[in-house]
Amino acid sequence: MAVTSLRPTTWNSEEWRELGSCRTLDTALFFPIGQTGEAEVKIARAKKVCSACPVRQACLEFAITTNQEYGVWGGCSEDERRVLRREWRARQRAARKAYVAS
Ligand code: SF4
Repeated sequence: MAVTSLRPTTWNSEEWRELGSCRTLDTALFFPIGQTGEAEVKIARAKKVCSACPVRQACLEFAITTNQEYGVWGGCSEDERRVLRREWRARQRAARKAYVAS
């Protein structure tokens, strides 16, 4: 899953949060401490919840655009989001360069 827009218009809306599949679950599942052992199990379980979440894209875009460093958001771990954020930032820079050059 990738971030589709440069600046989503809905990322700060409260609406998507209300529809999240994790809304009634223990937040510790989505914010485990560390990335190995028990945390690995929690991350996998959180990702499974995210995989069926109706607002997964909005959640991921919010996390990427607001640089949420910790936890599972939009079905992506911290490391996975770092990669997506780097790609997103590169696209932003390229778009800015193209705009300035035009
Ligand atoms: S994608 Fe995952 S973390 Fe985001 S709202 Fe849905 S269940 Fe929660």
